[in-house]
Amino acid sequence: MRISRYILPTLKEDPSDAVVSSHRLMMRAGLIRKESAGMYVYLPLGLRALRKVIAIIKEEMDAAGAHEFLMPEMTSADLWRESGRWDSMGPEMFRIRDRNGLEYALAPTHEEAFTAVVRSLISSYRDLPLNVYQINTKFRDEIRPRYGVIRSKEFIMKDAYSFDMDEKGLDESYQAMRRAYRQIFQRCGLETIPVQADTGSMGGSDSEEFMVASEVGEEVLLLCGSCDYKANQEKAEFRRGDRKGGGAPEALREVSTPDVKTIADLAAFFQCDEGLFLKSIVYLADGAPVMAVVPGNREINELKLARALKATALELAPDSVVEEVTGAPVGFAGPVTDKKVRMLFDLAVKGVVNGITGANKKDLHYAGVNPGRDFTIGEEYDLTKAVAGDPCPKCGSPMRETKGIEVGHIFKLGYKYTKSMKVSVLNEQGRETTPIMGCYGIGVNRTVAAIVEQHHDDKGIIWPKAIAPFDVHLVGIWKEEQELRALEGLYDTLSKAGFEVLYDDRKASPGIKFADADLAGLPVRVTAGKGYFQTGDLEIKCRWGGEVVKVKESGLVEAIRDSLAGCP
Ligand SMILES: [Zn+2]
Repeated sequence: MRISRYILPTLKEDPSDAVVSSHRLMMRAGLIRKESAGMYVYLPLGLRALRKVIAIIKEEMDAAGAHEFLMPEMTSADLWRESGRWDSMGPEMFRIRDRNGLEYALAPTHEEAFTAVVRSLISSYRDLPLNVYQINTKFRDEIRPRYGVIRSKEFIMKDAYSFDMDEKGLDESYQAMRRAYRQIFQRCGLETIPVQADTGSMGGSDSEEFMVASEVGEEVLLLCGSCDYKANQEKAEFRRGDRKGGGAPEALREVSTPDVKTIADLAAFFQCDEGLFLKSIVYLADGAPVMAVVPGNREINELKLARALKATALELAPDSVVEEVTGAPVGFAGPVTDKKVRMLFDLAVKGVVNGITGANKKDLHYAGVNPGRDFTIGEEYDLTKAVAGDPCPKCGSPMRETKGIEVGHIFKLGYKYTKSMKVSVLNEQGRETTPIMGCYGIGVNRTVAAIVEQHHDDKGIIWPKAIAPFDVHLVGIWKEEQELRALEGLYDTLSKAGFEVLYDDRKASPGIKFADADLAGLPVRVTAGKGYFQTGDLEIKCRWGGEVVKVKESGLVEAIRDSLAGCP
């Protein structure tokens, strides 16, 4: 491709709204342009990279035995009502009406749509296992679109759904996707960290996210330094067993604590470790009040709490409910009470000796609180967030925290959709059986952005060869028409040798051309200038590093092949 006839609007300056490297470089290198908040145009160079990622995904999905579909991006409200999600999806789902008043969603995901079509296609165990997928646009009414294509309102996803006769079959489908995902990201030159993830409101059991470590990642990951334990913070567990406090149990006593409300205030007032407090928080779980009790030095993990409660909606209770449940103003809740309220205790609570907690009375706390004696630990769960330094649940070594961008997610959905949408097939004995589902997504735009995030320097992008928009950046430095004709010959030779060549034939300064080549980040740069016209010397340089090497035209094709072979 001749740059003089291409659309490659590189920018010298960073766009003011681009705060992360990938956004900044994708804009500056002329890959994307902003249409409006959270919506982007792919320009030709960006589209080439995007298409290469898509091609790799498609190859690996096909190799794993999945079948490609193309679903409508607009899905009818009736489908969402069948699964019960029309009401539960919330404000992130775009909803529209046609002229007759029929309602639709601009699909943020396609569980319902795929389940419905598969329902019409399968009737017997012989039709399973089945894995269906598409690479298509999704919509999400993001409250805060940002980071360019990393968090946008419209994006391309590969989403796949597997249908199996039983859990054993589901596990095989899941493992096949797990292998395919590793292969896909590896081929894209992207280093990912597979972490255990929460299955959240989707229901289901196993779940794994493919994360790219990044300062701008919106998810926190906990990684063990000694073993292979890796989990996102929503899911991460940590080894317990530390006893808080000590000595012989003291008598329970009331302590007057006017104007002492926060845990920090209380720790100063009682001059003790924050971990000795039993923080008691009242929630509404699907409308019913519950009290969660966790140590004062720990943050509650609401996803873990929701999972323990099997609740689909969890929110902090309004003050009026707290007052009703505890009989005291907000700030004095505690588990030592005669009132009947469902209580859930974090695993660390039982280890507290002579703890402190709200007395369910205004301006009063209890000290000398001992679990088992002063209140009963009935329901006990892991309810708190793991943080850096916490011991790994598998081996006990301290874990570290890192931030990550999620590029892929696989999980075992279970029967949520096949049951609610009444999918059934006849098993070998001729009995109606409900298939079990898995669900597997890859954010395609995000994958491209994550690659740029992972591979760049201060001059520009450094593309892994498999997804570089072109293989070779041919920089022609010419003054005379006859030199341009010689360069055309060279361009022709490289194209005929099978390389994808971006050929800078512009009448511009070498400085501008080199800066644009570094910005575009194609794996191999070939420079043909004065040396070429005089002595036939060409210069070849790998964007991944290394020296400029001189070659003659006769050895150029071979040299480019070698250079490409050496690129990640
Ligand atoms: Zn470990």
